[in-house]
Amino acid sequence: MTAPDFTLAVHGGAGTIDRKLMTPERDAATRAGLARALDAGGVVLADGGSAVEAVAAAVCALEDEPLFNAGRGAVFTSAGRQEMDAAIMDGRDRACGGVTAICGPRNPVRAALAVMRHSSHVLLAGEGALAFCREHGIPFEDEAYFHTESRWQALQDTLALRREGRAENDADEARRHGTVGAVARDRHGHVAAATSTGGMTAKAPGRVGDTPVFGAGTFADDATCAMSGTGHGEIFVRWCAGHELHARMLYAGQSLAEAAEGVVMEALLPNDGSGGLIAVDAAGNAALPFNCSGMYRGVMRADRIARVAVYREDLAAEHRR
Ligand code: ASP
Repeated sequence: MTAPDFTLAVHGGAGTIDRKLMTPERDAATRAGLARALDAGGVVLADGGSAVEAVAAAVCALEDEPLFNAGRGAVFTSAGRQEMDAAIMDGRDRACGGVTAICGPRNPVRAALAVMRHSSHVLLAGEGALAFCREHGIPFEDEAYFHTESRWQALQDTLALRREGRAENDADEARRHGTVGAVARDRHGHVAAATSTGGMTAKAPGRVGDTPVFGAGTFADDATCAMSGTGHGEIFVRWCAGHELHARMLYAGQSLAEAAEGVVMEALLPNDGSGGLIAVDAAGNAALPFNCSGMYRGVMRADRIARVAVYREDLAAEHRR
């Protein structure tokens, strides 16, 4: 008997770098980073591991890659600090855990997983979250580890635009935001989602986006699907993007593809919600819609081939490495 299939999808954020500014080296490094994340989660799923373990492994790989806005390479607040959010959710019973406004744990998603597994709460913030991480042996790094020159420069550019009163019209999605995430359907038919982010460049200190808000940027329920969002977080929260996806499938009978497209194009886009999402349903279908120029994304199934894409036109190339 052949083992039932699995599905893993990852994203490295919507709001991709302008194609004209993308160098071949950076393009290759970005795609390689996505493929590494698919490999990290795919090996867990191929061995019969859980969707929860797989999404945590995939997100750890993305957090370790400084090209993406999460963990190492997180963006800076207006005060020049890094404040990260991460969340994980198990579709079997909607168990979930998240951390917000933290800097220190090397892999914020591991901190979120510890909250899910070892606390009676679902979301811990700031100093309390860090104390919890220390108690549970989560590895820490110093500030220098997380610092990247490109994110620091993005902050300086955004602050300069603000001083000139032009920040409102900042069309550079890559400068403004980014996030990483993974969703999986394991060989046992369960789904899970994990998301991790530095948030939005020059965000106010203490600002919390959609990533650790369950039902907004992260959601999982075996009854429908698992989703991880990326984009303008405030709008994902106001339109409850993750729960909207679930509700469209559960109550309106929409397929995963219809529901995901509906959330991104009908709920988010008309309301200034630029971005996208990745989702898998309990049958193993995947959807990766977005309403902006691109989204770093990839899918892996039981053949273990990493299929990655960046720009909209890449859709045709989605099945190539
Ligand atoms: N959704 C993230 C946030 O608002 C940013 C992003 O995905 O681009 O924190």
